[in-house]
Amino acid sequence: MKVHEYQAKEVFAEFGIPITAGRVAFIAEEAEAVAREVGRPVVIKAQVHIGGRGKAGGVKLADTPEEAREKASQILGMDIRGFTVQKVLVTEQVAIRDEYYCGITVDRDERMLVLILSAAGGVDIEQVAAETPDKIAKIHLDPLIGIWPNQIRRAIFYSGVDTSKSKEISDIITKLFHAFLAKDCSLLEINPLVVTEDGRVLALDAKMDVDDNGLFRNKDLLKYREIGGDLDEYEAFAKENGVTYVHMPPEMRGPVGIAGNGAGLVMTTLDVVARAGLKPNDFCDIGGGGDAEHTIKCIETVLRDPEVKGFFLNVFGGITRCDVVAQALVDYSDKFPENFPVVVRLTGTNEDKAKEMLEGTRFTFVSTMADGANKIVELINALEMKA
Ligand code: GDP
Ligand code: MN
Repeated sequence: MKVHEYQAKEVFAEFGIPITAGRVAFIAEEAEAVAREVGRPVVIKAQVHIGGRGKAGGVKLADTPEEAREKASQILGMDIRGFTVQKVLVTEQVAIRDEYYCGITVDRDERMLVLILSAAGGVDIEQVAAETPDKIAKIHLDPLIGIWPNQIRRAIFYSGVDTSKSKEISDIITKLFHAFLAKDCSLLEINPLVVTEDGRVLALDAKMDVDDNGLFRNKDLLKYREIGGDLDEYEAFAKENGVTYVHMPPEMRGPVGIAGNGAGLVMTTLDVVARAGLKPNDFCDIGGGGDAEHTIKCIETVLRDPEVKGFFLNVFGGITRCDVVAQALVDYSDKFPENFPVVVRLTGTNEDKAKEMLEGTRFTFVSTMADGANKIVELINALEMKA
């Protein structure tokens, strides 16, 4: 479950992690009222379940309550990478001296938690990791043992943060670790963690992902759950139509539309396509035993994102009958865009019948998943070359 910044900051407050004063507003007038309460210049921040709000224009400074109202009305209703802004956080503006990154997440390879601290904060941490990995301190933490002062000291030393703020930063890291464990987080991140001109150390942003499997013992977090709130417009469409679909995160997704039957098969298909050289755009499970109509809904869902330049349908027919899937393809055939490669792998129940139905059609047939992955990558790349 994803949690909004203002909600994660409520958790920060509960654990004593310093934040700026403010609260959430749903309409521009309310934003003006909050700015008056704060009584100082404020920042208006879009509350959506996606990062990079600053770059998208979803974070604006306002020096007066009137300006707060104006900026809030600009941000409310704005679309940020597929998410419509329905609320804004209005919070005290600070003069920033340094921007750091501080986060805890799960390192699956090491089967540990990992504390990540960097003096190069405010920007995309993945980019820092890729370009200047020496600017990042990574310390593994064992949740069963806890966090030791020497681990924190090492993180501070290697990260390049201002060591005259060691005490404050160390205190924040300890609290962040306790909050992470208490709330069963999979990610708890402060980016930026700032040192202000007047020397305060504050969490200026907050990102929190909670493991849903822990929600039964964290009932206080249930109030943050927004049914459908963390779905983008494509996922919302899928949900309305009963389609099992996950849009890949913006920074990870590419041009290959993918559908198949069974979660395991579809996940494997994503991996195989990625290995063949292009990024998948989505995960779509057409399920077992559905009718042609449902399969068409799945295809429509995958094709809605204009970034999708080709489609790979990978079906291993068991309960799913290949002829039913073939019928869907035949029915939908004219609706695929022009110059849009569609690669189909159909094996299993009623496979022969399906092949007969699809003979002489626009679809490219393959008999294995690996062939399909290579083929769709080849066809999409060929299109790009022409363009
Ligand atoms: P994100 O872009 O979604 O990660 O949103 P952030 O909360 O991290 O805000 C983006 C950027 O806005 C920060 O990195 C800061 O540079 C800037 N910002 C946010 N709050 C303040 C503030 O109080 N004062 C100033 N000067 N800049 C701020
Ligand atoms: Mn941020």
